[in-house]
Amino acid sequence: MFLISQNYHTDGTVPWHILCDFDGTISLTDTTDQLLEHFAQPGWQEIEQQWLQGHIGSKLCLQQQIALLDMSVNELHQCLDRIEIDPGFMELVKITTQFQIPLTIVSDGMDLVIRHILKKHHLQHLPVIANRLVQTAERTWQLEFPNENANCISQSGTCKCKVAQQYPREHIILIGDGRSDFCLAAAADYVFAKKSLIQHCREHHIPHTAFSGFSDIYRPLAKLLHSDFELDDSAMVIT
Ligand SMILES: [Mg+2]
Ligand SMILES: [Zn+2]
Repeated sequence: MFLISQNYHTDGTVPWHILCDFDGTISLTDTTDQLLEHFAQPGWQEIEQQWLQGHIGSKLCLQQQIALLDMSVNELHQCLDRIEIDPGFMELVKITTQFQIPLTIVSDGMDLVIRHILKKHHLQHLPVIANRLVQTAERTWQLEFPNENANCISQSGTCKCKVAQQYPREHIILIGDGRSDFCLAAAADYVFAKKSLIQHCREHHIPHTAFSGFSDIYRPLAKLLHSDFELDDSAMVIT
């Protein structure tokens, strides 16, 4: 058992709040890519290229790609049931629940997809902020963007830094792995980074700890929650 005290307020008044990415961070594969590979009509790779080359933001990319999906609800669920999550996430949820540290999943993926996978793991109580997947006919779908921000540098569907602004009285810990996390990484008080987010944090001198699975996080997270955290110490790495 890892020791995290209930005194998680950094200065007696400011509590922590964990904002955790989903695709590639909790799920081991990207759920949107998985669905596109199985069910999208031709053309989705070209849209992906437009995004990779920086011609369009992720919002436009996702909007156009989801419109190409041809799948029933059952097919959607069967595909999602094969997606694995990092088993260490269950322990993170247990720890944060036990010590009352809010944990919100913030994703530039799709709400129905995330909720289906969470339910399978009995984690449906976790709050999810993501793009809204709407079924428009038996086999057609569209994506809606209740959390977009026209000023977002990454032009994503769900702007994570805008989401973080909903919690002005809390210190934000970001856990993430990629591009959809870049805009929040600079604004968060601390970052646990995986894959391309590690390089992004290094290049921008953002305080972070690199990890490859959630089991790497428990100890440094416990230390962080106990520390007298210096917000301007950009060299801070917790091991
Ligand atoms: Mg991700
Ligand atoms: Zn943003």
